[in-house]
Amino acid sequence: MVGYAPGEQPQEGQFVKLNTNENPYPPSPRVAEAIQDAVERGLQLYPDALASEFRERAGDVLGVDPDWIMAGNGSDDILTIVTRALVGQGQQLRMPTPSYILYHTLAQIQGSEVDEVAFTPQWGLSPEFATPSGDPRLALLPNPNSPTGTVVSLPAILETAESLPCPLLVDEAYADFAEFHSVDLVAKSERIMVARTLSKSYGLAGLRFGYLIAQPQLIHEFRKVKDSYNCDALSVAAATAAIGDQAWLRDNVAKVRATRGRLSDSLKKLGFAVIPSQANFVWCRHAEQNSQQLYEELKSQRILVRYMKYPNWQDGLRISVGDDAQIDALLAALKSMV
Ligand SMILES: *Cc1c(COP(=O)(O)O)cnc(C)c1O
Repeated sequence: MVGYAPGEQPQEGQFVKLNTNENPYPPSPRVAEAIQDAVERGLQLYPDALASEFRERAGDVLGVDPDWIMAGNGSDDILTIVTRALVGQGQQLRMPTPSYILYHTLAQIQGSEVDEVAFTPQWGLSPEFATPSGDPRLALLPNPNSPTGTVVSLPAILETAESLPCPLLVDEAYADFAEFHSVDLVAKSERIMVARTLSKSYGLAGLRFGYLIAQPQLIHEFRKVKDSYNCDALSVAAATAAIGDQAWLRDNVAKVRATRGRLSDSLKKLGFAVIPSQANFVWCRHAEQNSQQLYEELKSQRILVRYMKYPNWQDGLRISVGDDAQIDALLAALKSMV
């Protein structure tokens, strides 16, 4: 197999890094304190295998019973556990396209089949998505979607889940930047599950922490599949502190959204077609300039964005919403190129 190629993480030199949708702002200061406390409590014992401390705090924040939550080593771990549990060799994993490329890798690891359905031109799910001719065992829906930043409405998600012959996992890596989320749908339908991560909105990509919200009878089965100690004591302590500081989250999300608006408007003025985004990145494509060349030229100026090419769609640039200084640097560089 080819394997997933994550976005570049340059280890040397100063880059304006706008390629992997990290948060430009640091996490809550409570995170460092919680890690320090956990170190002082000692690391010689194995951690709580169920990350109970985190599940209780997250349950309070989300209005969900802790038994409906499973913690993971990043939401990629959650996606792996759910795929492993539900999709066997030769079976189908359903997803819309264009979407998160890692889903292909998850299918490949299982020896299962990628079953893709194109989004509608308005970035909704086509009726075909909900009525497969084959026998998918799991459907994945990033919402907001990557790389487009677009969203599928809650009624459409519910309707799709009720029609599909398999569970639907809504991958909400970017939901904190959007106008709505689907956590409340989990109680309405056993078939709907929601994956979250602390990597993007909480500014903790380096920590590795994500979680799943699903009905407890499903969580019970997924626990059998996960590594016993998939989250370490430091990350559980840190994630608990982070999700407990909702004021910090709201503040950063507001800043990112404001900068997102300014970035989108400025790109349009420079001649880019920009898809309206509810995430912390925008997908854009210049009317005349070659996207790959723009990517290369930006990189030579030490500005890193993500160049992506989808075989059945288009190529373009996915640009993460950095802080205002980073976006000013990007826009100034683009101005001299287009
Ligand atoms: C970033 C991202 C994730 C993975 O997040 P981690 O918690 O860092 O593993 C999952 N899904 C989508 C769509 C993402 O963009």
